[in-house]
Amino acid sequence: MNSADSESLARRLLAAGYVEDSLERADIAILNTCVVRQASEDRVYSKLHELKSWKTPERTIAVTGCIVAKEDGDLRRRFPQLDPVLVPIGEYTDFVAGLDARYDYSQGESMPAAGRTGVSHYVRVIQGCDHNCTFCIVPKVRGRERHAPMAAVVAEGRRAVEDGAKEVVLLGQNVDDYRDPGGQGGLAALVRAVEQIAGLKRLRFLTSHPQDLETELLEVMAASDVVCRELQLPVQSGDDGILKRMARGYQMRHYRAIVERARSLMPDLGLTTDVIVGFPGESEAAFLNTRRLLEEIEFDVVHLAMYSPRPGTYAADRMTDDVPGDEKLRRLNDLLALQRTIALGKTAQWVGRTAEVLIEGTDELGRPYGRIRQGKRAVVLRGSGIEPGQVVTLRVLQATAGQLAGLPAA
Ligand code: SF4
Repeated sequence: MNSADSESLARRLLAAGYVEDSLERADIAILNTCVVRQASEDRVYSKLHELKSWKTPERTIAVTGCIVAKEDGDLRRRFPQLDPVLVPIGEYTDFVAGLDARYDYSQGESMPAAGRTGVSHYVRVIQGCDHNCTFCIVPKVRGRERHAPMAAVVAEGRRAVEDGAKEVVLLGQNVDDYRDPGGQGGLAALVRAVEQIAGLKRLRFLTSHPQDLETELLEVMAASDVVCRELQLPVQSGDDGILKRMARGYQMRHYRAIVERARSLMPDLGLTTDVIVGFPGESEAAFLNTRRLLEEIEFDVVHLAMYSPRPGTYAADRMTDDVPGDEKLRRLNDLLALQRTIALGKTAQWVGRTAEVLIEGTDELGRPYGRIRQGKRAVVLRGSGIEPGQVVTLRVLQATAGQLAGLPAA
C-alpha cells in the first residue's frame, strides 16, 4: 500500500515535469513513512537524521504516509532545522502545486512524458479500516474507511492498461469490505467490472479479511481467466481464545470453511496468511493450535511476526505482554522451520508442470522473472528476448521454498 501511495505521488510529480534523480542532485527529498511497527517508525527518524547534512535553504524535505496522521508537532520539534513539509496520505495536489510555486524547471532539462506505469498498476480502492483489531495501529493512523467509486477505479485501470500495464492490483487494508459509494455493489462486482478492461492480462486484490470475504467473490475468481488464483487471507492465530482477544471477528471454523470452499472451487489456489506469535495470553496450548493449523492447511506463504506492543493500540494499553521474549522467539523459529518444509513441499509439486508467468523484470543474473497466477515467483533460466509484460508458459524444472525455475515450454 505504501508502494501504491509512492507511485501515485511519483506519477503526479512526473506529470508536473519533475524527474527522479540521485539525492546529491535532487532539490526535493520525500519520505513515505510506515508506522505499523516501532522499528519502521524509528527508521523514519534515522533517515531524517541522515538528511540533516543534505538540507540547505534551497532544498525541500517532505514527509508523507502514516507518521503524518500520528504527528502532533513532534517531527518539527525534533528536526527544526529540516523544516519538513507534512503531506497527508493522498493529498498530493496541494503539495505539488506548492513545489511548482517554489521551483521552476521550465527552462531546464527535457521532461519525461506524463505518467509512470509499470507491468503492475496498483489502485487503492479503500483508504483506512473500520475494524479494530486490538494489536493494530492502522485504524488510528489511517482513519475510517473511504471507498473509491467503482467507475473511477475502472477508469484508472483502463488508463493504466492503455499506458502499458498488464496487471491491475486492487488494494485495501480490508479489500473485502469494498462497497461502491454509488450502490453498484461490493468487491465481487468491482472485480467483474475491472476484469472486462480490454488488454488486461491479470487482476489481483489484497488484503482479504476472513470476516468479510464473500463466497460470490470466490466464484468470480474461479470463473475468470484474468483474476489470479491467489488469496491473501490473514488468520493471525489458530486459537479461538486468542482470536477473540485480538477482536478479529471470526472463529477457526469460519476460517476453515472459507479455505475449504475456495479450494473446492480452485484446487490450485495460492494461499498466503499472516500469523502473530506471542500475543498476550497465548499459552502453549494456544500456540500449538496455530501450529496445527499451519500443518493442516499447508499455506503457500506465511508471514510470521512476533507480537510487540504498539503504543496507542488496545492490546498495548490494556493487556499484559506476558509471553517472554525468548519464548516468542522459540515459537517464531519453530513455525518458520515448519513452514519452510511445507513451502518446499508445495513448490515441489510444480516440478514437471507448466505455469504461466507474467514477466516483471530481470534478476541479478539477467534472467527474466515474474509471478505465476497463483502468486509464486518464477524465473526463466534461459530467456533471451523475453521482455517485461510478456506472459510466458514455463515448464518448471526446479523449485525452492520461495521460487520456481524453468524453461519456456515448446
Ligand atoms: Fe488492522 Fe487489518 Fe485489523 Fe484493519 S483488519 S484493524 S488493518 S489488522
